[in-house]
Amino acid sequence: MSNPVLVIGAGVAGMTAAVELADSGIKAILVERKETVGGNALDLYKAFPTDDCFYCFEGNRWRPGIRKCFYRSALIDQPNITLKMNSEIDEISGAPGQFKVKLTKGPEYIHPRKCTMCGLCLEKSKAFHLLSPQCQPQAVVFNPEKTDDGAKQAEEECPTKAINLNAQPVEETIQVSDIIIATGYHELQPINVDEYKYGKYPNIITQLELAKIIDPNSDSGGVLVRPSDGKPAKRVMMVQCVGSRDENYYPYCSKICCIFALKHASILTQERDDVRVSVVYMDIRTYERYERYYRRSRESGVEFLRGRVSLVQPREDDTLDITVYDSLLNKYLKFTVDLFVLSSALEPPEGMDKLIETLGIKSASGFVAAADPASEDEVVIGDHIYACGTALGPAEVPESVTQARAVVSKILQSRK
Ligand SMILES: Cc1cc2nc3c(=O)[nH]c(=O)nc-3n(C[C@H](O)[C@H](O)[C@H](O)COP(=O)(O)OP(=O)(O)OC[C@H]3O[C@@H](n4cnc5c(N)ncnc54)[C@H](O)[C@@H]3O)c2cc1C
Ligand code: SF4
Ligand code: SF4
Repeated sequence: MSNPVLVIGAGVAGMTAAVELADSGIKAILVERKETVGGNALDLYKAFPTDDCFYCFEGNRWRPGIRKCFYRSALIDQPNITLKMNSEIDEISGAPGQFKVKLTKGPEYIHPRKCTMCGLCLEKSKAFHLLSPQCQPQAVVFNPEKTDDGAKQAEEECPTKAINLNAQPVEETIQVSDIIIATGYHELQPINVDEYKYGKYPNIITQLELAKIIDPNSDSGGVLVRPSDGKPAKRVMMVQCVGSRDENYYPYCSKICCIFALKHASILTQERDDVRVSVVYMDIRTYERYERYYRRSRESGVEFLRGRVSLVQPREDDTLDITVYDSLLNKYLKFTVDLFVLSSALEPPEGMDKLIETLGIKSASGFVAAADPASEDEVVIGDHIYACGTALGPAEVPESVTQARAVVSKILQSRK
């Protein structure tokens, strides 16, 4: 019998690959460093191109009736998938087709199958929390750095005995035939991009942080509020290409930040009362069908300013004065806003360098690169090594899913 396939990363791309392999009768080991699957998509609220809800796991105990699912909920109970959460790859050796992979699973403080999400521990101690109402496995998580007497009490009183505060990491070695890299992206925290003053004032946020605020499951229930005081935000300015197309940070275009900025701008102007949005841009890059987003945003009243933000100044009431050089008008314009939203670069996640080095594969701007850049097989990274989704560079969900399916089809062909 063939060895299973290792999938590294349980975002949309990794989950799709694992589920498609499993449905085709191939065993998959899905390794994820976090305690929930879903990756970045868990935090995105609505999804272009369909504007559907990103929350899509069926069988979700908290939100029944969820109708659509990007990455199929069978994941947890599919017998051909072994899910290894909270796990890191330590070492990869062996030959293509027979890789030996050493990994460490972090301490399992909460047994994912025993936890019924009764909420008792959440009331007892701040050391327990829920990563997302859509988390899978559906279980709370424990942060040992915040442990206290309440946590010990919760361990004793948990009705299903799901808590073990003394849990230890576990090392293991597995043998796999193929490796699929689906490690995704990280949104740059633009602390060092001095001109925008991110990290200095609370009402300067990134697009991912904005997505979390407008999510109906947020603390504000989806109302657009200022992080500084929770008051409604009415005037929003977005700025594009933060850390992208910039030789000081990332020279590449992050490809999808124009589209998600337009998505957020349209949502805010169409769905939130009295919210006005301006977008400061160098170019609006909306490829293929996404030109529609641009047109729709303009029609819905979003204001577009071609130019650069030249000054950000805080005011006493927590609003911000923003000076923009408008290159079409050749004028400096001044705005006062409640929220300043940075469309920050998408960068490789932590640990990519090490993974790329361990596997001896090519990289481009820190993301994984195709073995043969001239070929159309962008998902083939090496002998029995594949990649899909944003591990290959910034991409939207449909592209990530298509690549994951392409990888599975390659593996199926290789096993014929
Ligand atoms: C603000 C914003 C809005 C967006 N809106 C949309 C939208 O509306 N529609 C759309 O189609 N796309 C949207 N996108 C893009 C979308 O987020 C991505 O296309 C999608 O999440 C990519 O999925 P992925 O699986 O490739 O990566 P990720 O979601 O990044 O998942 C990768 C997973 O791999 C894990 N991982 C990383 N390294 C390791 C490792 N070494 N070991 C184990 N696990 C690891 C991570 O923890 C993560 O869970 C948006 C992006 C942003 C930033
Ligand atoms: S008390 Fe136990 S079952 Fe209830 S949420 Fe906490 S870990 Fe889960
Ligand atoms: S997609 Fe748009 S915002 Fe993002 S880097 Fe490219 S041009 Fe800039």
